[in-house]
Amino acid sequence: MADMQKLVILLKQIEDQLNRCTRCGMCQIVCPLYIQTGMESDVARGKLALLDGLLDNCFDDPYGTFRRLNRCLLCGACQVNCPSRVNTLEIFLKARVILTEIMGLSFGKRLLLRCMLSQPALFDKFVWWGSKLQKIIARPANKVTGTSCGRLLSPFIGSRHFIPIAQVPFHRHSQISNNRQKKNDLKVVFFIGCLIDKIFPKIAQAVVNICKFHKVDLLIPKNQACCGIPAIAAGDLKTFSNLVEQNTDSFASLDFDYIVTACATCTFSIKKIWPMMLPANSALKKKAEKIAAKTFDISEFLIHKVGLPPSSAMSVPKAVESVTYHDPCHLKKSLGIWQEPRALIKASSQVKFLEMTEADSCCGMGGSFNLQYYDLSAKIGSKKAENIRAADCSTVLTSCPACMLQLADILSTPKNNIKVRHVIEIYNNSLNFHNE
Ligand code: SF4
Ligand code: SF4
Repeated sequence: MADMQKLVILLKQIEDQLNRCTRCGMCQIVCPLYIQTGMESDVARGKLALLDGLLDNCFDDPYGTFRRLNRCLLCGACQVNCPSRVNTLEIFLKARVILTEIMGLSFGKRLLLRCMLSQPALFDKFVWWGSKLQKIIARPANKVTGTSCGRLLSPFIGSRHFIPIAQVPFHRHSQISNNRQKKNDLKVVFFIGCLIDKIFPKIAQAVVNICKFHKVDLLIPKNQACCGIPAIAAGDLKTFSNLVEQNTDSFASLDFDYIVTACATCTFSIKKIWPMMLPANSALKKKAEKIAAKTFDISEFLIHKVGLPPSSAMSVPKAVESVTYHDPCHLKKSLGIWQEPRALIKASSQVKFLEMTEADSCCGMGGSFNLQYYDLSAKIGSKKAENIRAADCSTVLTSCPACMLQLADILSTPKNNIKVRHVIEIYNNSLNFHNE
């Protein structure tokens, strides 16, 4: 039985924030989950009411509350649409940490987060073995999206279509060296992120090429760890803090002006979640705040800190590709970045840009939400797939590798002819490297 007295004391930390909710219900109209289920416990208002109930001793079911809190994409749509400016994401994450402190981590999460994710070398080995085994346990599903589907894996992953793990993760590429140009004042650290490193190394290579083209001094610290979002989403503050510390240590000896990432979720995590979730006045929080202020999404960095090259620096297009763009929730809703990726797309020489309907609606990924609630995730995704198809494009672009996984899955039907790519890949292909 959970210690209810201790729980109430801990929940007092977020009482002021909970009290801001006026129960107006404006979050209902934008919550992708509530739109599917119509269940009050799925929307922010219902989740906040449950936390209030625990705090006021109206009921004593922290387990049920935790389960309902976890049924959330952490997309931030409720926060953006809240007239009372309730910081729902901060409340949800802090409440998950508090409830986990009372109830403990499950064995599976402990194994995955504390024994695997927090030890990058071990995690790397585990994923490497997965890359070898996947040929036996999965088979190609869709050539255009590059997805596979389960063979022996079907009992565990159902009908999912997934992008296979890369045979060589980016950090093991022999050609990686710090890309020191010595011609430009800008010194930039590249935070790779797990998905780009292990599934989409070509995106990381595009970042390296682009920085070289723009004569940006790019540093790629070794020993980078996960940005910590899977840990904090599971309520595991200990693993989260450990990962932030490993990352801040890996940057500590470097002299740099900015950190760039090509992953919307990593950018959101470093800029917002690191300073928000670390204990007040701790040395680590102070370090994290400094790093957060220097962190940029790659398209934001290129547009605001580097500038676009003249059209003469772009390659002559061989063919024009019609593209649309999906706004990752963590980039647009949480960080207000949506114009910059579009500016990069429009600057790219071989594309015709077509805006899709509801480009900023959630794709349904939501990290571990997709693993736990695949049916709901797929239902949310099917609306996104409809909008992508209606845009009449040959490629859907985005700025988040997690969204790319979901988009590839929802588009992987037998007749699909729409590719999924990162904005930065298109921009990289447009640059005329012979003119450097
Ligand atoms: S929109 Fe904001 S104030 Fe209104 S019910 Fe939702 S969280 Fe509460
Ligand atoms: S974060 Fe997204 S899924 Fe979660 S309650 Fe808010 S709108 Fe709904």
